[in-house]
Amino acid sequence: MIAIYPGSFDPITLGHLDIIERGCQLFDQVIVVVFRNPNKKPLFTLQQRTEQIRRSTQHLTNVEVDCFDGLTVTYARMRQAKVLLRGLRAVSDFEMELQMAHTNKTLSDDIETVFLATSTEHSFLSSSLVKEIARFGGSVHHLVPQPVALDIHKCYAKTPVGENPTPMVDLKTEPFMERQIE
Ligand code: ADP
Repeated sequence: MIAIYPGSFDPITLGHLDIIERGCQLFDQVIVVVFRNPNKKPLFTLQQRTEQIRRSTQHLTNVEVDCFDGLTVTYARMRQAKVLLRGLRAVSDFEMELQMAHTNKTLSDDIETVFLATSTEHSFLSSSLVKEIARFGGSVHHLVPQPVALDIHKCYAKTPVGENPTPMVDLKTEPFMERQIE
């Protein structure tokens, strides 16, 4: 059975990686799909996030990484996947995740959302938190896969402490990318 793990992954954290690794034990194949979320202004381009996930999941044989601009169920149908994999950290995630699962069910009745509870050591972890720490010069090596820590370091190295870096945008490959982050 194929599972899609959709998300913004801006950037991928050890919490995301934990869900991917555990998903790989449950499903024949896990396709991690980086989606453009119009409500979030990303730091990394879709291309960069896809590449970061590829480099972080090299040890897993049944993972594929892709990116898509559209509905998750459209992508799932395209790949003949019947499962959407999502992670749950706290009650705060639950309301939105449940709403999304119900919405996706109305769009495609044969696709199920499966939730994996976060591992306790990653329950506090989010991509936003990682960016917040990096913005103020803190180390994020213990929170993200190693290749990502390097990218984050490069990204924030030239930015004054407390300020947001300008996102790296390749308009040729990513014409719909927003130009500023919050
Ligand atoms: P989205 O914009 O779709 O919420 P995210 O990259 O923020 O994308 O999250 C993708 C999925 O990973 C969501 O289901 C989210 O709850 C889950 N997730 C994020 N961080 C963690 C974590 N630390 N532990 C477990 N699941 C997580």
